[in-house]
Amino acid sequence: MKINSAEFVISNSDVTKCPKDQLPEYAFIGRSNVGKSTLINMLTGRKSLAKTSGRPGKTQLINHFIINKTWFLVDLPGYGYARVSKSAKKVFQKFITSYFSKRTQLVCAFVLVDSRHEPQKIDLEFMQWLGENQIPFSIIFTKADKLSKTKLSPQINAYISKMLEYWEEMPNYFITSSTSGLGKEEVLNYISEINSQLKIS
Ligand code: GDP
Repeated sequence: MKINSAEFVISNSDVTKCPKDQLPEYAFIGRSNVGKSTLINMLTGRKSLAKTSGRPGKTQLINHFIINKTWFLVDLPGYGYARVSKSAKKVFQKFITSYFSKRTQLVCAFVLVDSRHEPQKIDLEFMQWLGENQIPFSIIFTKADKLSKTKLSPQINAYISKMLEYWEEMPNYFITSSTSGLGKEEVLNYISEINSQLKIS
């Protein structure tokens, strides 16, 4: 998919105030510092569409972007950052879960995990929650360039093995690097394919 336009629409902490348009929506979520903003900028080919986090934890809003005037890319708050106070954490967990429960336009959530890290409890629990709530998701492994080729593949395989302790099948996944552009086409083509099945592009 070629990105012809990518525009910021609105930021919200209240899911009921998100755009009413019935366009298909793809949400990006992960732990703070996982590389979400950089990935969104890489995918859309815009330098600073999503704010990269100098201060992790600051972007605690649901951010809607409209892409090619046909679908929404949603930048969700990073979770699990220690410097966010406990009460702030509770609030955003509630609005994140309410986003997923109420946003019927959502087609797929992309759960970002850092390729270098062992499976983290918070990510596994979050994916479990998505599964229990029948919310379709794919995994995006980020920062693949930070691992050598010989280390990357065993690391991904270890992640898959861990997932298979909980899941009958490994969810769909992508390996990406915002530095090299690895995975960009795969993710965009995946979205494009779903969109064309939905007959919107
Ligand atoms: P966010 O908090 O999830 O939005 O994370 P950011 O996009 O702000 O990225 C966190 C840090 O990781 C920044 O210093 C980025 O430059 C770096 N980063 C993000 N993606 C990549 C990547 O694919 N490769 C490398 N080498 N660094 C990355």
